[in-house]
Amino acid sequence: MEKYQHYINGKWVDSVVKGESIIVNDPATEEAVGEISCAVKDDVDLAVESAKKSYESRILVDMPPMERANLMRKIANELRKVSKEGGKILCLENGKLLPAAEFEFVDAANYFDYYSGLTDKIEGRTIPVNSQVMDYTIYEPYGVSAHIVPWNYPISMLARSLSCAFAAGNSTVIKTAELTPLSTASAFAKAIDNAGVPAGLINIICGYGSGAGNDLTAHKDVSQVSFTGSVKTGKAILHAAAERAIPAVVELGGKSAAVVMPDADLDKVVNAAKGAIFGQAGQICSAMSRVIAHKSIKNELVDKLANLATSLKVGHGSEDGTELTPVISEEQLQKIENFSRSGQQAGANAVAGGNRVDRKGYYFEATVFDNVQPEMTIAQEEIFGPVLSVLEYNDQDEAIDIANNTEFGLAAGVFTNDVNQATKMASQLNGGQIYVNSWFTGSVATPFGGYKQSGYSREKGQEAIKSYLQLKNVGIQL
Ligand code: NAD
Repeated sequence: MEKYQHYINGKWVDSVVKGESIIVNDPATEEAVGEISCAVKDDVDLAVESAKKSYESRILVDMPPMERANLMRKIANELRKVSKEGGKILCLENGKLLPAAEFEFVDAANYFDYYSGLTDKIEGRTIPVNSQVMDYTIYEPYGVSAHIVPWNYPISMLARSLSCAFAAGNSTVIKTAELTPLSTASAFAKAIDNAGVPAGLINIICGYGSGAGNDLTAHKDVSQVSFTGSVKTGKAILHAAAERAIPAVVELGGKSAAVVMPDADLDKVVNAAKGAIFGQAGQICSAMSRVIAHKSIKNELVDKLANLATSLKVGHGSEDGTELTPVISEEQLQKIENFSRSGQQAGANAVAGGNRVDRKGYYFEATVFDNVQPEMTIAQEEIFGPVLSVLEYNDQDEAIDIANNTEFGLAAGVFTNDVNQATKMASQLNGGQIYVNSWFTGSVATPFGGYKQSGYSREKGQEAIKSYLQLKNVGIQL
């Protein structure tokens, strides 16, 4: 079995404590696909020390913006070059479709290209105080920026925050998710190395959240944290950051709803649902996990959604034609089963799916629940699986109430042909991003983040760069 290592100070290294490792499985076969060193506190210390030294050397901070941009574009090119080999590993460790896994490296490249364009636009301003004072502001990086990454989009999510932190001049330590560390430790790190990134600017370690993750967030030399993951862990990270009074970007979970109005094109809803709740086996933070349909079209829509769910081809992510891939682990599969059982016990009707698939691997059937009531657990909690809850509404106020009545606020959507209704809904729905007549309309350039418990700050787009910069004011007595 192939062995993988941390990438610290420009070198691939084992853990300080020999023998500490994590075995990574293919969720489709339940078989081991790789073994990686598992970071403990000493490894975290080494990675942070390496980042701190590189930051103090000012190699990135003093690098002329155009040069920093060129370096980022080199990283982007190298990421594109490794997309095939990296995608293969990512497909195996995560279970996702091979083309989607390869695309994550292209997506990562797009982030580096996009933020390369901002390196020379980090501008301060001059402030009139009086004729004897020259006063100006400058944005500066924080220093060592820690990035804690989830397993659902390991490469895209990492690149999203890393590219921005790098463009801002920070040195970084990345802790990969313990379930999907291999593609980052190998292909991603290789792209960084091949691009000629000076040693220490980007360090990658793998370890458990309760171990290395905790140690990294609590480390005295970490000056800023970027976290993408569950609400529960996000809160733990915010506590740790508050303890040291450092800023944190937190991108958390969701329970996003699509409101389907009477005039909507139902086929657009079904097309969107295919990717937005059954794609990636529903393990998407901004998944369309609820559909709130007007009474007049609800039954027709439920039939169409059930037909879609039962038609999806189950298979390994690397097989041509596969549409439904496994969820990440047995633990996640059991969680989804429990949610499904709770929905049925509460009176919801599984018109498609509802059970694990009878085959090897962590597969759950594409599931559509009808007759879901707003207070049911399956309408309130993030399931993180291919399970769609359909709720019914009579008038628009009720639709908005149902849509907004969860603790989350990551995304929401509306399907209608009436642009006035669409904009009205867009203003009333709670969510950091609102989709109209589609789902996932964004790109690397569109700011993304949560309302309510789905987190705060924004990743992507120009807005994100400010999260990785602190402001200094300089006053000169003339
Ligand atoms: P998770 O919170 O279990 O883990 C995320 C990361 O945090 C992992 O690397 C884990 O090792 C680490 N971690 C766990 N405990 C820690 C601790 N105490 N201190 C430091 N690090 C710790 O989340 P997950 O299961 O990997 O990912 C799924 C969740 O992520 C879902 O809720 C999903 O909605 C969310 N997510 C959000 C976004 C977004 O942009 N808003 C994107 C992707 C995923």
